[in-house]
Amino acid sequence: MEITTAHGPLRAPCYIPDATRGFVRSVDASDLEAVGIPGLMINAYHLMTRPGIRVVQRLGGLHAFAGWSGPIVTDSGGFQVFSLIRENPKHGQIRDHEVIFRPPDGRDKLVLTPEKVVQTQFRLGADVMVALDDCTGPEAPPDEQRRAVDRTVAWAKRAREEWQRQLAQRRSEGPPPILVAPVQGGNDAGLRRECAQALLDAGLTAFGFGGWPLDEEGALQLEMFALLHELLPATAPLFALGVGKPEHLVAITALGRPAVFDCSLPTRDARHHRLYSFRHALPDGPLTAGPGFYEKLYILDKKHATADEPISPSCDALCCRRYGRGYLHHLFRCEDPLALRLASLHNLRFYSQLCEHLREHGASPG
Ligand SMILES: [Zn+2]
Repeated sequence: MEITTAHGPLRAPCYIPDATRGFVRSVDASDLEAVGIPGLMINAYHLMTRPGIRVVQRLGGLHAFAGWSGPIVTDSGGFQVFSLIRENPKHGQIRDHEVIFRPPDGRDKLVLTPEKVVQTQFRLGADVMVALDDCTGPEAPPDEQRRAVDRTVAWAKRAREEWQRQLAQRRSEGPPPILVAPVQGGNDAGLRRECAQALLDAGLTAFGFGGWPLDEEGALQLEMFALLHELLPATAPLFALGVGKPEHLVAITALGRPAVFDCSLPTRDARHHRLYSFRHALPDGPLTAGPGFYEKLYILDKKHATADEPISPSCDALCCRRYGRGYLHHLFRCEDPLALRLASLHNLRFYSQLCEHLREHGASPG
């Protein structure tokens, strides 16, 4: 599936890294291009707090600011704000009309409305914008899930109206930014279904997996993804917000719905010395769902100190093209930032290779 944006296509399934504050830690935009990363997920809320939307605008908008010429998806920040407020009510209030947020770092309070969140993302110049939604965890009680669905639908309608207003005012050429409405409902199939249907009825055309993608035991909510796949038109882009592990990408693709995945896992794992590789050469056909197709190598293990082979023979990124495990082990031991760059590029390339394979061959449920 090809999602057309003003800065080029996103071909799903694909993985885009979380560049939460406008950058992916320890790698730059040309590094990302070199390892086949097609787009970035940036958090509008984080940019609001630093450096501020006005600063990004003065620096030419998000693409110029971040030196990135490909598609940029901006998240509303609802997920972060709601988690903090639900953890500790002194951080703010969630009302039907708006969300008042008092940041933990003592900065001025922030008022978020569906309209304001869309305006902010237009000002940033996002290619894909996520509407403000009411995020719940899988453990939230049924009445809270219910309220979250009602609010999410009401807010998506308001976001869509604002999106249309902005489009009419700006009259820019080229493909308009895509408005993504997250579908809420937690682990309740009835609520998820109701939420998706209400969003479709309200004219929304692109969707996100809202809330927490894992259940209380930490397993992927695959049934909820299957449900969205059934309900949404085949042409509707799906953003699997915050997903996930390599086996999650395979499992969701095996449902038959190519999604856009974003998460911070590969770069976070790289910083924690965990490097991915395919266990065997990739098959000349669909990958089978399950974690068996890859492994994680812990680069600080003593055995790697004297190993001269690359981390993975199938990796064509800088790390493995030019350096061996022993050198990377040494860089990590010396705590040189180069270790983080090479390891991050390695894991990002693993994800982009995985998605290349999924696009070409698909996946089977196993
Ligand atoms: Zn590599």
